[in-house]
Amino acid sequence: MRESLSLRTDSPEATRELGAKLGRALLAEHREQPIVVALNGDLGAGKTTFVSGLLHGLGQRGAIKSPTYTLIETYELQGRQFHHLDLYRLNDAAELEALGFRDLLQPGAVVLIEWAERAAEVRAVADVRVGITYVSGRDQGRQFELTASSETGAALVRTASF
Ligand code: ADP
Ligand code: MG
Repeated sequence: MRESLSLRTDSPEATRELGAKLGRALLAEHREQPIVVALNGDLGAGKTTFVSGLLHGLGQRGAIKSPTYTLIETYELQGRQFHHLDLYRLNDAAELEALGFRDLLQPGAVVLIEWAERAAEVRAVADVRVGITYVSGRDQGRQFELTASSETGAALVRTASF
């Protein structure tokens, strides 16, 4: 089940397009379970850019709000709920619980989480991990590693590979 995809984007637009690709793959998945996408990478790596591309690809109009301060923003697209979380300012697990994290994990819901590695509870339920790193010597480049950690995640990564 270890499915992974490694590729580089050379512009913010290319990162958005990769996000949109994963978004289309998400829609193709059945709705019996929530799908959790864990995004990791330094500040400015492109996590929000990726999520923005994903949501806009599914019909989101207007800019998305960064959930850095609100911790969570929810979008209704294609008849599904997309929760965008940013755990950068998360202090402890109790805060995640207070946010109602467990309640977000509804059938058909998609949960996109920046700084996911900050919460063990999030790591435990992730279907796909998206790791983003800077490509050294290149101003615009970002290296993406998509790694599945469930059967659903593996199907997603496979679909997004084409
Ligand atoms: P994060 O959410 O990881 O902190 P953001 O998506 O908010 O990062 O910011 C990424 C910044 O890097 C944006 O200003 C974006 O325009 C820029 N950038 C440059 N090249 C890329 C690339 N290949 N992919 C993503 N962002 C890029
Ligand atoms: Mg961000």
